[in-house]
Amino acid sequence: MFNSPQIISICNDQNFFIDVASIEHIKVTSKITPQLISKLIKNLKPNYIVLSGKYLKVKEWIKYFSQLNINISLELENDDLLNHLKNYNNCIYQIRYPIFLDELIKNKTRYFKNIIKLASMNNEYRVIIIYITNKSFKYLDLLDVFVERLIKLDFMVCIFPLPINFLKEEYRITKNEFWTLANTVNKIADKFAPMVYGDFPVCSHLYPNLEGMCPSIELLINISQDGTLTPCRFTNLNLGNIKYDAINSVWAKWKSIDKGLNNPCNHCSSLSSCRSGCIANWDTSKNIDQYCHFI
Ligand code: SF4
Ligand code: SF4
Repeated sequence: MFNSPQIISICNDQNFFIDVASIEHIKVTSKITPQLISKLIKNLKPNYIVLSGKYLKVKEWIKYFSQLNINISLELENDDLLNHLKNYNNCIYQIRYPIFLDELIKNKTRYFKNIIKLASMNNEYRVIIIYITNKSFKYLDLLDVFVERLIKLDFMVCIFPLPINFLKEEYRITKNEFWTLANTVNKIADKFAPMVYGDFPVCSHLYPNLEGMCPSIELLINISQDGTLTPCRFTNLNLGNIKYDAINSVWAKWKSIDKGLNNPCNHCSSLSSCRSGCIANWDTSKNIDQYCHFI
């Protein structure tokens, strides 16, 4: 039996990733509302919700959720919101500001202007998420310099290689690149611990500084703009819909997929920390994360 997730992620749109994502943009006819999600919040009692989406109606959604007394983590995908954010300072527990590494380095003045504005906000946690695609690799030597600058501004830094199945083919990271990145991020995390972390499930046995376990389902569940429930926003694995399905059937579906039952993982000493890696990196023909070191 699964525990209730501690985090509900609500992804109002994937427009931040429109250039790089292979996941189809769903033509939504009937959108989720905060009222619909509030039933799930009352039922599951998560620790916090993550709101994301470039066109998220911040004012409306934050006003509604702040009445439910729940921690709100906002992924700030629209720079225009920066000027209004101070109005919601008391309701937002965490701000996450996403950036692609190549854009950060090419447009550093523009991004650092925003980052300095964000640094003046007094949220308990402020995180810069640095997304990596294959276009990032020519700037990898500069990653530690930029991470240090962000840490000096009192941000935590999350470095996240976007999963292979989420990306269009021309943005995908090869296995060699993935492990080069893991090695680089491990060294940076070692130098700046605990201010740097990453989402690298298959690396935990070699790189203890990198985040081991995929947080989806037992920690996190994602709701897309049409109500589809997925393990996280980077996979379109459909577990049901918040409008029609009971949460128990969603859990049962996830359990029936049971990543741990595939062969190579079953005998792996890292299974308890890796849990068969990231579902959005799965090679479905082998039923395993295609970045796994052992295949
Ligand atoms: S074999 Fe499975 S559990 Fe082991 S490291 Fe690879 S993906 Fe993770
Ligand atoms: S499925 Fe992959 S991208 Fe999603 S939370 Fe798990 S490790 Fe991260």
